[in-house]
Amino acid sequence: MKVENGNMVNTLKQQKKSEYTIKPGDKVGIVGVPPLSVISKLSETGAVIFDLDEPRVKADMELTSNYLPRVYCAILRTVVLNALHLELDAVFIDVGPGKCDCAFHVSTVLQDMLNIPIIRTRNEDKKGFGYPLCRTKMSLFEKMQQITKGVQNPFPSSPDSPPCTPTAGFWGVPPRDFSLLNLFPCTTHIYGWTRCMENKTPADTDLEAVFNPHVPTIFFAQSFCAKTALAKFLAAKHPKGLYLDVDVTCSSSTGAKIQAFLELNGVPHAPC
Ligand code: SF4
Repeated sequence: MKVENGNMVNTLKQQKKSEYTIKPGDKVGIVGVPPLSVISKLSETGAVIFDLDEPRVKADMELTSNYLPRVYCAILRTVVLNALHLELDAVFIDVGPGKCDCAFHVSTVLQDMLNIPIIRTRNEDKKGFGYPLCRTKMSLFEKMQQITKGVQNPFPSSPDSPPCTPTAGFWGVPPRDFSLLNLFPCTTHIYGWTRCMENKTPADTDLEAVFNPHVPTIFFAQSFCAKTALAKFLAAKHPKGLYLDVDVTCSSSTGAKIQAFLELNGVPHAPC
């Protein structure tokens, strides 16, 4: 609190980067794709990294409603739910052009909610590491898991198999509910921000906008995310594109919509 024109006004907790030195064994949460320099430091020091964007605790999402509106990106509600339950030593949260304004505001909430350093980063790394997992033949679920896990280390990904010929496309961010990925064939190529993630350049908007007009593609975004605009825009430009947004979980009707879209476009669901 401070005094302004004779009245007490509320001020928020301030933190400085210098307040935190990473120590071996520290439990450190990350949100988004922090810069390579941060990931390298965490990895060299032997910190234990927790990706807070992914569901990590079995707890009711409703618990986040004291901190965030119910109508808010489910990834960031998951971040808050994880932060409420994991005993972390610090959080690095990317809030620059490689993530979003919603994450910036959540960093303010986390600073007030937790008594640990919440360190904002802006990842504008330009060096591309490639995106071979996005193009390999593997279940889409497994590919997405490997790509999100890859954020925790400073190395390029190296799948066992070379790129396959795509039969379908998935454009977008890793969904809050990975179960919808099981509906796609193993020859689905990944585009959009997930490709930027694997490339370790999350702010590369040119790469994010790339799609393949020759394969039926689902343009996915989390409900209430600003990327819904880009997903809808690109889906309209694609000759066989479908815009899809999903909130916390994929309903059976959304699953049926994905299946119908792939079947109507003649995409075979071949085993891997
Ligand atoms: S899905 Fe959208 S709103 Fe949610 S964290 Fe990612 S960029 Fe931000």
